[in-house]
Parts: sequence; C-alpha cells; structure tokens
Amino acid sequence: MFKTDQESRREFFRQSFGLALLLGVPLVSHAYRAPAFRVHKTPEEWRAQLSPAQYAVLREEDTETPNSSPLLHEKRAGIFHCVGCDNELYDSATKFESGTGWPSFYQALDGAVGTKEDNGWFMKRTEVHCADCGGHLGHIFADGPKPTGMRHCINGVALTFKPKTA
Ligand SMILES: [Zn+2]
Repeated sequence: MFKTDQESRREFFRQSFGLALLLGVPLVSHAYRAPAFRVHKTPEEWRAQLSPAQYAVLREEDTETPNSSPLLHEKRAGIFHCVGCDNELYDSATKFESGTGWPSFYQALDGAVGTKEDNGWFMKRTEVHCADCGGHLGHIFADGPKPTGMRHCINGVALTFKPKTA
C-alpha cells in the first residue's frame, strides 16, 4: 500500500514529536530534581554547626553586608574552604580586588562549585554553591578580569581561609 505525500508527512511529524518527547522528558525531570550532595545534613544539624550568619548565607541564600568580611583583605597565599563542609573552593592566586565589598575570585578550583540560574525579579544571575554540601556561596558575573572574565562574588562568611604552610 502506498502512502500519499500528506500521510507520509504527517507520520514524519508524529515520529519527530515522539522523539522530542523522549529526549525532552529526561532533560526536564533532571533539571527539576534536587541535586544530591555528598554532604547532607538536616536544617537542624546545620543550625547546630553554623553561626546564625553562616546559616543565613549557606542555607538560605542570604547576602552578607558588603565590606563586612575580614577575608576581603586576606592577601596571603592559601586556600579558601567551605565553612560548612571544609571543601577546598578557591585558591588565593585567583582572588582579586573587585571593589564590590565582597571577596572576589576569577575562578574556582576544579569541580569545587556548582551553579544554578537564579531568576530574580529584576535580573538573571548565576548562583554559585559548594559542590559538596550545596551551601550557597554567592553569584557569578561575567565582568571579571582575565584569564576567565568571570567574577565569583562570594560571601566571606561562607569561607574559611587556610594559609599555605611553607
Ligand atoms: Zn561545602
């Protein structure tokens, strides 16, 4: 039996639509699944471990007051760790003076952080968090210095600094 042109076309579209569904559904469900982090604690456990200011930033995506972090002026060589789980996040070599009042880095250590799109009312930002515990760190903007052109704008209260030992 021969199909008319129109029937073939209809069939083609039906198959394409089916393929789109097959491809689309896993992508969508993946995007909406809460990420699983290596370090998982209940809100009560985090509250017991963190100071109220640390909890507000790491677990509730609060932002610290600019110029409030002593780490803003930390200039020694070393590594900035996540205050929630001690994950190594940023090398002091990638820290720069942004003038924003928040510790700023142009690059995270490999695999140390994760990102998600943060759609606020007025602007679209990229949220950045610790890849190990999911703790909120700050945001990434595309106006940083070379070599990456990125600016990781980080809440100092989310970090601990460990100087390199000679
Ligand atoms: Zn962490």
